[in-house]
Amino acid sequence: MVRAGFIGWRGMVGSVLMDRMIAEKDFSGFEPIFFTTSQVGQKGPAIGLDIPPLKDAYDIEELKTTDIIVTCQGSDHTKKVYPELRKAGWDGYWIDASSAMRMQDDSIIVLDPVNRAVIDNALHRGIKNYIGGNCTVSLMLMGLGGLFHKGLVEWITSMTYQAASGAGAKNMRELIEQMAFISRQSEDLLDDPASAALDLDKRVLGAMHDPSFPKENFGFPLAGSVLPWIDSALENGQSREEWKGIAETNKILGTKSPIPIDGICARVGSMRCHSQAFTIKLTKDLPLDDIVAIIDNDNEWVKVVPNTKEETLKRLTPAAVTGGLDVPVGRIRKLNMGGEYLTCYTVGDQLLWGAAEPIRRMFGIALEHIS
Ligand code: NAP
Repeated sequence: MVRAGFIGWRGMVGSVLMDRMIAEKDFSGFEPIFFTTSQVGQKGPAIGLDIPPLKDAYDIEELKTTDIIVTCQGSDHTKKVYPELRKAGWDGYWIDASSAMRMQDDSIIVLDPVNRAVIDNALHRGIKNYIGGNCTVSLMLMGLGGLFHKGLVEWITSMTYQAASGAGAKNMRELIEQMAFISRQSEDLLDDPASAALDLDKRVLGAMHDPSFPKENFGFPLAGSVLPWIDSALENGQSREEWKGIAETNKILGTKSPIPIDGICARVGSMRCHSQAFTIKLTKDLPLDDIVAIIDNDNEWVKVVPNTKEETLKRLTPAAVTGGLDVPVGRIRKLNMGGEYLTCYTVGDQLLWGAAEPIRRMFGIALEHIS
């Protein structure tokens, strides 16, 4: 029987992965082995099966006994363990949520509703490394896959509104701590219906600049503000997050000549849903109804939202989308610049299609391939 090792299963991405695997009844047809970097010998997750105690995620001999490894542990662990494992002769499938190996020539970025053909081709060529993509890129492709598949994209700019969860669990907590801090400092004014909005504003600003304002993780106020920089700086003025748009999209799609993609990535105060606004230069001027149909029919999760105020505010927000696999795309219309210029807007749960779901599905594909 295939032996599958799971590392990083109790972290934020790993927990979502476990929940999805349990919900989809994925734990059958293989022997699961759970690893840890900190809790060796303790009990593994409740997956409805008898499983052995947790094994050491740095133990190469133990890891070597697996046919597939699924890891959500993070880049540091991958960089340490993966080379040693291959050096020790391990020939299994490495499926990884971290970015450590994403751009390697011997790795495929997985998003099977969009690039199943690329994945199948790689499996047949004997490629063994399958890596989850950047959350923003994966969510863009889940929404706009139809336009890419039909060769309709000449270039795209994406302006993003990214959730706290993309920065990690501690940042999600910190966002709410910031909200609570502001709320505590403004309580008396909020309790008084006659208080002036500008007094409230002054109080909020004072709270944000208070030395005890909780900002250890973000470094700045996010609650009541927006942070227009994500990840490190590149020499050309882009942030690394912005660079991933062009680099990962083209790698996922396996394009021969890269499609230009660029924009500005900003962090906003939503918990786990990324939103993105696009300007798209189409390769030809198609009627809007055709474009809508192409977007809507690409995969079973993309859902076009009619471009009305009511439907948009009801269905195209983090509050509406969080926790679900659907990726709504709305605000679809031609821009004043001409018939080849399209705009649209999408929202997606970045812990699902942006992180755990492509990994879960790739595990199923690898399992089927070797079983
Ligand atoms: P995380 O929540 O920090 O979990 C990583 C590890 O931290 C866990 O596997 C666990 O390892 C350890 N840990 C220590 N204390 C813990 C606690 N109290 N609760 C749970 N785990 C604890 O990391 P993550 O956000 O899931 O990210 C994992 C990888 O996925 C990273 O490479 C990240 O870049 C990538 N990724 C993240 C996102 C995202 O939105 N966050 C999206 C796509 C990809 P032990 O059990 O071994 O102690």
